[in-house]
Amino acid sequence: MRYLSTRGGIAPLSFTEAVMMGLASDGGLLLPESIPTVTPATVAAWRGLAYPELAFEVLSCFIDDIPAQDLRGLIDRSYATFSHPEVTPLVAVGDFEILELFHGPTLAFKDVALQFLGNVFEYLLQQSGGRMNILGATSGDTGSAAIYGVRGKERINIFILHPHKRVSPIQELQMTTVTDPNVFNLAIRGTFDDGQAIVKAIFNDLAFKEQHQLGAVNSINWCRILAQVVYYVYAALKLTGDSLATAVDFSVPTGNFGDIFAGYVARRLLPEGLIGRLVLATNSNNLLTRFVQNGDYSLGTVVQTISPSMDIQVASNFERYLYYLQGETPARTKAAMEGFAKSGSLRFTGEELARIQADFAAESANEAETIATITGIHQAHGYVLDPHTAVGVKAAQAHRRSGVPMVCLATAHPAKFGAAVRNAIGREPEMPANLADLDQRESRCEVLDARVEVVKEFVARKAL
Ligand SMILES: *Cc1c(COP(=O)(O)O)cnc(C)c1O
Repeated sequence: MRYLSTRGGIAPLSFTEAVMMGLASDGGLLLPESIPTVTPATVAAWRGLAYPELAFEVLSCFIDDIPAQDLRGLIDRSYATFSHPEVTPLVAVGDFEILELFHGPTLAFKDVALQFLGNVFEYLLQQSGGRMNILGATSGDTGSAAIYGVRGKERINIFILHPHKRVSPIQELQMTTVTDPNVFNLAIRGTFDDGQAIVKAIFNDLAFKEQHQLGAVNSINWCRILAQVVYYVYAALKLTGDSLATAVDFSVPTGNFGDIFAGYVARRLLPEGLIGRLVLATNSNNLLTRFVQNGDYSLGTVVQTISPSMDIQVASNFERYLYYLQGETPARTKAAMEGFAKSGSLRFTGEELARIQADFAAESANEAETIATITGIHQAHGYVLDPHTAVGVKAAQAHRRSGVPMVCLATAHPAKFGAAVRNAIGREPEMPANLADLDQRESRCEVLDARVEVVKEFVARKAL
């Protein structure tokens, strides 16, 4: 399996080269040369496999340069950290099937991808004798999943910037109580935007980047998308087959278009019709919903919501779908993305819009609708949704088809967003065991001024 850039500017890569490259060096995103497809007989053979076994089968369709035994080991280690025996269990709630993706160490769905990516990085660096210093900025919610992905790993250090005293106490503790020697939490005296700007400036210093082998774990790494394809297949197989349904729909709370793109790959991998509708759900930052409903892909300003991990306007994985929409023509994708960078908008033909609407349905939920959905589902079924999941459930309510199971991806545990949930149901959600004693654990964090030189000096001193 060879990997190409959406912008056509790189020689074909193997899977492991694609993982190490992350963002394609021509500014595009990496994709497999063609999306593999499996037959109904293969799918029948996959039925009943445990999650790690199924993950091995699905990942093997895309990875041919890691020996099978090693790949199995990487997968087993990655999902052994999940607290549920099924890894991503399905729970029937009223008309819907909730796919709980939050049983990993940080209680958010990003663990599914980052636990695996951390192990793959360590494995590849052991093979090459290399080293990596991961640098990133977080607004609070997703930094911990990256930290847990690489804590204690050999040949990797991680530096995560967060805005000092501007993240919630739980978010801060989830990061700073990881005291492995390869983890550096940097609380900077400034905002999230300051942190992001500092990271960007450091990555732009190519000599510094090369000297310290700087790496990133952002959501454009193909390995992350791939790990997420597995749970779509897992859920689709569980709900179809003998005397069950023949097709399954999914509703996906979306920010960077990563998770929904994994669903698109899963649909193309599986026999036609097994995955039916993919419902793309956004909060008030509804660019992607406008795109699907009217072909209007134009930037708005980011507004803050109670589902902060989806407060995004420029969806970093969108370019992957655009590449397929435009007939796998890198020159068109490159021109479109360069045009978008200048004008902040993209236009689509009527024929393209028809194709977009055949691939996705879309719906957005404002703040009141999100809270009402949490309240409604709790009153009717006693089940507590987190605000991101609630955005997806609201969209699912609008697109439920009779006789077709609707799977709603649950992307975070409600306890991570306790204040919003309390507003909706009148009490705090229950704390799972691995959050309950956070404030009693040892913690470690450096407070630094929000200046590029200060952060650079720190990284240079502690880098591998
Ligand atoms: C990151 C995240 C999302 C959005 O996922 P994308 O892949 O960016 O679309 C949704 N919910 C939660 C809780 C997240 O952390």
